[in-house]
Amino acid sequence: MSTGRSFYPTPIIKLNDKDTNRLYIKREDMIPYSFGGNKARKGLLFFDDIDKGDYDCVVTYGSSHSNHCRVIANMAAQRNMPCFIIGPEEVSDITYNSVMMDMLGAHITTVPVETVSKTIDDKINELKEQGKKPYFIAGGGHGNIGTQAYVDCYNEIKEYERSNNVFFDYIFFASGTGTTHAGLVCGQILNEDERKIIGISIARKNPRGREVVIDSIKEYLGRNDENIDENTVFIDDYTGDGYGKDNEEINQVIEDIFTDYGIPLDSTYTAKAFLGMKKYIDKHDIKDKNILFIHTGGTPLFFDDILKRKNS
Ligand SMILES: *Cc1c(COP(=O)(O)O)cnc(C)c1O
Repeated sequence: MSTGRSFYPTPIIKLNDKDTNRLYIKREDMIPYSFGGNKARKGLLFFDDIDKGDYDCVVTYGSSHSNHCRVIANMAAQRNMPCFIIGPEEVSDITYNSVMMDMLGAHITTVPVETVSKTIDDKINELKEQGKKPYFIAGGGHGNIGTQAYVDCYNEIKEYERSNNVFFDYIFFASGTGTTHAGLVCGQILNEDERKIIGISIARKNPRGREVVIDSIKEYLGRNDENIDENTVFIDDYTGDGYGKDNEEINQVIEDIFTDYGIPLDSTYTAKAFLGMKKYIDKHDIKDKNILFIHTGGTPLFFDDILKRKNS
């Protein structure tokens, strides 16, 4: 079965931005599998693990909007492996991602959000009792394998810097479960690099949001490190009205970035983070720097966003 190796590195493109900084974007959305994104990069590593082991089905969780669930459903279907998805019924409306999950034959169970965790345990036990060998993937691809995917991404960024004679003073991206964030900071610590890696929270608040990132970093490194505290910057000023909630400003970013560069952003993750980055740069008066924004994917959500706007 194919590993993701031939899919990398993803392109880094310079945006001719009007402001004083030099802004680049790393197109993780262009990983050529199932609309790409950080869930594809993580998923490819999870399935390397699955392919090496003795498993015959996959269990994971996420809402009907989940990029993670769409990618995992795709990779499972490709292998003819049943894929069981547990989701909160509070967020179970029809989306492009959910339609793809259906098309891929995922077995979706929706339950009230507070019973999701128990339903997962029950599903895993039920499958085992049937003699099946389930592989469990935490929501969003959280865990050391997901972290590894973004250590790999960090090393790709280093390679780009070496061959293009550029150094990114800042790296910005949307921080959700914190796995992408943890991987990038682990990459920085392992390379002993000095730069600012700034996760723009799309939902979680401090101190909890940042603690989750730090826990993932420690778990991956298998040790504490004196640089973890300073290197983990989790900004919760730009979460707007909360997870998945758009507003006029965010929708304007989607329109502007698509118009100016032909790049799709979405209101839950990438547009919210892009707007947060812009505001952070203004607030901290950052000038004459090389800045990298990581486009973490979510293209199906871009289509949900523009259709919803059209219909409203
Ligand atoms: C899941 C997701 C994120 C957040 O990544 P985490 O590793 O969970 O922090 C960002 N952008 C997109 C498009 C996503 O699907």
